[in-house]
Order: sequence, then C-alpha cells, then structure tokens
Amino acid sequence: MKIKWREQWRALVLAVDRMWGGRSEWRGRGYGPPGEEDDSVVDGLPMDHLSRSALNGFSTCLLDRACTSRRDSRWLEEQLLSDSARLIPLWDSKNLFNGEDALQPVFFLPSEIEDMLHEVTLTAFLGVDGDVSYVAFEVPSREYAETLAEYGSFRDLKSVGALLDERESNLLAYARGIIHWHRRNRFCGDCGSETMIMDGGHMRVCTNSKCGMQHFPRTDPAVIVLVSRGDDCLLGRQPSWPKGMYSTIAGFVEPGETLEGAVVREVWEETGVEVESVHYHSSQPWPFPGSIMLGFHAHASSGEIRLGEDELEDARWFSREDIRRGVAEGAVRLPSHITIAYRLIEDWFNSDGRSELRKVVERG
Ligand SMILES: [Zn+2]
Repeated sequence: MKIKWREQWRALVLAVDRMWGGRSEWRGRGYGPPGEEDDSVVDGLPMDHLSRSALNGFSTCLLDRACTSRRDSRWLEEQLLSDSARLIPLWDSKNLFNGEDALQPVFFLPSEIEDMLHEVTLTAFLGVDGDVSYVAFEVPSREYAETLAEYGSFRDLKSVGALLDERESNLLAYARGIIHWHRRNRFCGDCGSETMIMDGGHMRVCTNSKCGMQHFPRTDPAVIVLVSRGDDCLLGRQPSWPKGMYSTIAGFVEPGETLEGAVVREVWEETGVEVESVHYHSSQPWPFPGSIMLGFHAHASSGEIRLGEDELEDARWFSREDIRRGVAEGAVRLPSHITIAYRLIEDWFNSDGRSELRKVVERG
C-alpha cells in the first residue's frame, strides 16, 4: 500500500493544532522523564514518538519523496524544467535568504536561472508537495554565487534556523544534507574511481565498470541524552560554546554499538557518571554536516562528576532552581528552542508541573 506521507503529516499537524491550539503551545507539554506518567494525548492517544519528533526543529517534512518516480530520468527532467519546479541553491553549504529579521529562503524557477543551470553539475530531487517539485542544486562557481547576491545572502542554516517557518527549515535542512553528502562522495570509497549521480540524486554509482559500487546517502547517528538524578539534571559545556552555555551530553554511535550502549558510554566517557536506565525520546535531522540526533532520557546511578580529557570543559548537576536563577541572572544559557537538546531539557524541566521552561527562557 502506498504510504501517503504528506497526508499523514498534515493530519498529524492538524491534530497537534486542535489539541494545543497551535504548535508553539504544545511545546513544553511533553513527556516526562522515565518512570513518570506520560499524560500528553493527541486525539485521545498518548503522544507517540512520531508526534514528539515533530516538535523538534527541522523535522516537519511535508514532501512526497516520490521514491519510485525519481528513478525515471524522463519524469525527472520534466520536473526539473517545469515552471512548477522550485530550485533551492546551496553554496559552500549555505542556503540563500532574503530579508534580515524576517528571513525568507530564496527558491528559483528554472526559467529565472537558465544560464546558470547549463553549468550546474550537482542536483538532487527532494520531492513534491502538491503540484510543486523541489530540487536542490549546488551553485557551480563563486562567480555565479556572487551574481545571486541581488536576491539575498548565503547564510548558515544552523545559525538562522530559529527564524524560519518550520516546514521551510526542514526543506532547507534536507537540501543542505543531501548536497553535502554528494560533495563528500565524488569518488568511490571502494576503488577510488569517480562516481556519478543516479536516481535523481539519491544514489551515486562508481564509473569503474569492474566495480560499479552503488553508494547511498548516509546520515550519521548521534545520541543525545538528558541524564537526571533525583531532582537534578546533568548538563555540560564545550570550550568553544558561548559563555554560560550548557547543554545535554551527546556523541556519535560507534560500530558494533546499540544506541542505548552509546548513551551509557558517552555519559561515562565525558562525565564519569554511570547511567542505569535509558529511554528513547525523539529524533531530529541535524545536517551540520550530516547527522541525525537520537534523543534519550536516562537515570544516573552515580552522581560524582569526573570530566573526561576531551570535549567538555565543565559538567554540573542543575536543579530547576539552578536553571531558573542562572537564566534570569544571565549566567546560564540553554540551547536554541529548535534543538532536540532544548526539548530534552524542557520536558524534564516541565515534568514537575510547577513551571514551564519556555517562560523562564522568555523572561531571561
Ligand atoms: Zn568503485
């Protein structure tokens, strides 16, 4: 049975809107830490992981990715050249925006950039939304990138994501992630020969006839976890972060490791804290440059912090009052509200039912 993904998502978003009177209201009314009842419901059912992940930034994809049709080169060409196509430029892993405070991503009709399209060598079909097809492409040279300055400026999506409509931010994240993958896979990892784009940009094939290896877009799994103990949660900071910024513990999953095993290892390596239980929370695409963040809540069985030699310059146990006071005084900063790190902290913070982190941050 064909899955009508776009319709499913729309139904989900409508259910969220009905339940909480809008997505922003839903934030902060999520799932408590392990062991506590999940009292959030959508249409009479407990909030599931699909719904919870939809609250993370860059996560609201309404496209039909047309996985079968995109293998048909004639169909693809029609999509690309049609005036119902919207072309999304990427240059130096940055997306194009106009405006300053109210940023709008810039998409092009094929006819608007006809000359440039003759030079473009890297495109990836993203999917269709109604009658509109979305295609990401890499601007072919710095000269062309400079000519696009009349339409706006190229910016890092990570730094401006909070200013965007959530569905547009997902589209731009998808475009950024897949173009980045292509840039890093121009040569076959097996024999070293050049690879060529296939399936509308969802596969590369080695051009060496003796090899012919197929390469598919990859996303690197990384775990991220809110560890709690009693009334406290464990947050750490990296030396490169802005002053006062603290966040959840995170790290990449290694070969031969479960996601939960990676949580236990990362927390131990970075903070010396032992974790005794791990519960999945939600996920978030994180194309900076090519990850998916897999979020967890966990309980600690030990409280003593012993920092590892790499990554963190500090880690602490924070009570809700520590966070409330730290944010109010400007001594503590939390990650942007579009990150899964914030959502993990928020759901833990709000689970005592006394106050909402969103209000604490807005006041701070
Ligand atoms: Zn090869």
